[in-house]
Order: sequence, then structure tokens, then C-alpha cells
Amino acid sequence: MSGIVYLVGAGPGDPGLLTRRAAELIARADLVALDALVSPEIAALVTCERVYVGKRSSAHTLPQDEINQLLIAEARKGKRIVRLKGGDPFVFGRGGEEAEELARAGVAFEIVPGISSAIAAPAYAGIPVTHREYATSVTLVTGHESDESTGVDWDALAKLNGTIVFLMGFANLPLIASKLPRDRHVAVISKGTTKEQRTVTGTLADIEQRVTDAKLETPALIVVGDVVKLHDVINWFETKPLFGKRIVVTRARDQASELKRLLEEAGAQVVQFPTIEIVPPPSWESLDRVIEQLAQYQRVIFTSTNGVKFFFERLAHKRKDARALANCTIAAVGESTANDLRTHGIVADLVPEKFISTALLPLLESDQHGIRTAVIRAAEGRDDLIEELRKRGGSVDLAVAYETRAAEGALEGSFDIVTFTSASTVDNFFAKVTNVNGALLASIGPVTSEAIVRHGQRPDIEAPSASIEALRDAIVEHERRQGR
Ligand code: SAH
Repeated sequence: MSGIVYLVGAGPGDPGLLTRRAAELIARADLVALDALVSPEIAALVTCERVYVGKRSSAHTLPQDEINQLLIAEARKGKRIVRLKGGDPFVFGRGGEEAEELARAGVAFEIVPGISSAIAAPAYAGIPVTHREYATSVTLVTGHESDESTGVDWDALAKLNGTIVFLMGFANLPLIASKLPRDRHVAVISKGTTKEQRTVTGTLADIEQRVTDAKLETPALIVVGDVVKLHDVINWFETKPLFGKRIVVTRARDQASELKRLLEEAGAQVVQFPTIEIVPPPSWESLDRVIEQLAQYQRVIFTSTNGVKFFFERLAHKRKDARALANCTIAAVGESTANDLRTHGIVADLVPEKFISTALLPLLESDQHGIRTAVIRAAEGRDDLIEELRKRGGSVDLAVAYETRAAEGALEGSFDIVTFTSASTVDNFFAKVTNVNGALLASIGPVTSEAIVRHGQRPDIEAPSASIEALRDAIVEHERRQGR
């Protein structure tokens, strides 16, 4: 089989802007050659062999002709190679040169366009590159021309009424400003479409100072033209409620994704720091005993989503299903627990408002004589509920469905908010992190908040009901009140 090289655009940074074709090719590649502009989230999709050929990852760079030689040599071995480039491969991406070389060498290749930062970064800054009232053309220019003898026709550009987008021009902003009419509107967009995007606007007369004051970083592009005026009106991305906030998610990795998504949709940059791992219990004995005798229980209490997950896995393992619960009333602690039960076809009969197992007690009979209850929960859960039910004369069996364990790993970098979704995430977080440096602590409910207090801290935010949506809303509301 002969090899092939795909010159693929990875988009401008936001991993959601990778095309389906690109994702499919990355998944099926034998080798991926990445350049420095490709975002870490997209680089993380690469599971096969990878090579960094980025211009900016100085230690491991390859000159362009060596990149070409590498692509050709590897393709000749029969490999499917993805050459992944920031933005679009043909927009200042040297994709043209690489394709010419491949054609000359007789190596098969395909071009997969990507979303170019030239258009997407302005879009995320609320700047349409064309607009019927402001610009009927858009010109993409390399700003790399420090040597005036090369290429760019500044006089022609100065006469253009449309939008001009300069790529690779950040270091040459003074030169660009000096070549065009000083009163032109201009925006500099740094790290466009990423959670670190920042936009500075002004005129060519004052933009240098503004950019210096704002300490903008590369990659950045420059947009010149009247369309920049729309930034104030359309600016939708940098104004998201949690934009610019780094928020730590301490949940176990396999449970973190939904909270991560909710926070990201609100604009936050999420730092995953799983403090705990959810693992099967040391023994299935107590859960198996309950499952075998389900018909003899009047009530089953699920105290967490993990309990639901492991219970139904074990039930299926025993070749049983939800019908085994037919004669029991079901209580769920927390809305998420009730939601997960629903995915198994069970509508819980009792759901307390607070995410705390003892909140169930007022909902349960004060005389428990003759009532047999099974409590499905973690090995290290609290016993208050069980004790109280026994005190009321009930017979209660504990079914241990899983165990939480401290996870490995350290927390790097700064952060603004830490989210806690259970007491065990709190305990394991503070076992590793002693100083939160003024970050806000956000708790999913009273038990989690108590755990925070036990560590000598105070929760700044507490969700009014026990769901990650309520936690997200509480954080958004808190930030809104702070007036950001
Ligand atoms: N092929 C790429 C451009 C490569 S040239 C594309 O289509 O986007 C590199 C230049 O692109 C940088 O110097 C910068 O001006 C611009 N650039 C790339 N990614 C950017 C981003 N996320 N935000 C702002 N500018 C970016």
C-alpha cells in the first residue's frame, strides 16, 4: 500500500472548530506531524506516533526542507500521515510549498481546509470581516515584512476601503501603523478563539500604546478597518459570564466531563484536577446480598450517581434488570441521582431537596417497624441515616457499591475558583493543596461545605440544590454580583 500525506487545517484554537474530516483523519493516521499553533486539546486527540515540527517549539524544530523530506520519506514507507497546521493550511501556512514538494516527489496528498484564524479570531472578537455598511472586501496580508524591500504594496493597502487582516504582524505593529492612515480603526486579537483570547481596539495612532499596556501575547493578528467598530456591539465571547476564569474541577475524571462542559459553555477555562478515583468496592458481598434479596426490601435508597451506576452494572452482571426493584419504593439523594435512575427506567418516589442523605429523614415514616431498607452507597459514606432508621425501629442493610480513593497528580498554575462536588473531593483536595491563594471555593451542598469548614476554610459559593447545573448557576450568579 502506498502512503499518503494529508495537509490538514486544525482551526484557530477552539477545539470545537476542528472539522469532522480532520478529526476522522487524525483518528486513522499512522503519524501526525504537528506545528506549534495546534491547540493542546487537539494535539491530545492524537493517539498514534507524533512529531513536532513547530517553528516555535525551538528545541525540536525542523527546517522546512527537512519537514518536507520527513513527510516524503514516511509516506514512501506506506504511512497515512496527517500534517496538522494551525488554522487553514493554505493561509500563510506553507501548505502550498509542502504540496508542491509532495507533487514533485510523486507522493499522494490531499488538502483538508481548516477554519482560518484570519476570519475566526475576528468573529470571536465580534468583528465580521465583511459587512455591507463597513467593508466590501477583506485582504489578508503577511505582517512579517520587516524588510521593506519585500512584497507588500503599502500604498495600495492604504487606499483600500475594505478590511485588512495582518497575520504574523504582531512584532511589526509599529511599522504597520506607520504605513496606513493614522485614524483607521484597528483591533489586535491575541490567542483568538481560545479561553485566553483578548482583544484590544483603538486607532492606528494609539494602538501600540494600548497593546503595550494590555501586555498582549502571541499569536495575535491585526484587523484594520471600520468593521472594528462592531466589536463593542457584537463582542459575544469575551463577555461570557465566566470568561477569563480558571476553574478547577476536582471530580473524578470519568465524572468531570459534564461539569467541565457546563463551565466551559459559560466561558470558563477548566483545569481538571481529579482528586478522587471511583473504583469498585473491595468486595461485592454486601451489594450482591441485597441484589439477591431485593424482593424482600420495602425501600431502596440511592445516595449518589455512582451508587446508581455500580448497582445497575452489578444487577446486569447478575442477569437482572430494573424489574428486580418492582416491589420497593425508591429514594434518591440529589437530583442527579434521581436523573440517573430515570435513565434506568426508575422514577424515584422520594427526592429530598438537599443533597444530603439525612435530608431524607423527614420524608420517611417516623415508625420504621416492619420496613426493610437497603442503602446503596460508597464504602466510606456516613452512617447517620442508617442509625436513625434503626432507631425508628427499621431494619437497614448497607450495600457497598463502590469506593473512592485519592487520585495521583498535582495542581499546576494559578486558578480563580475551585469546585467541590462531594466531601471526599474536599478532603483529597486539601490533602494535596495547602494554599488556595485567595481562590473562591464553590460547594455543591451542605455536606460538602461542612467538609470545607473542617479544613479551616469557608465556602464562598454553595449551590442551592445538589446538581452540577445549580453549582454552575451559583458560580455565575456570584460572579455577576461581583460585577466582574
Ligand atoms: N494558517 C494559519 C495562519 C498561520 S500564520 C491560519 O489560517 O490561521 C501564523 C499567524 O496566524 C500568527 O502570527 C497570527 O498572526 C495568526 N494566528 C494564528 N492563530 C491565531 C489565533 N488563535 N489568534 C490570533 N492570531 C492567530
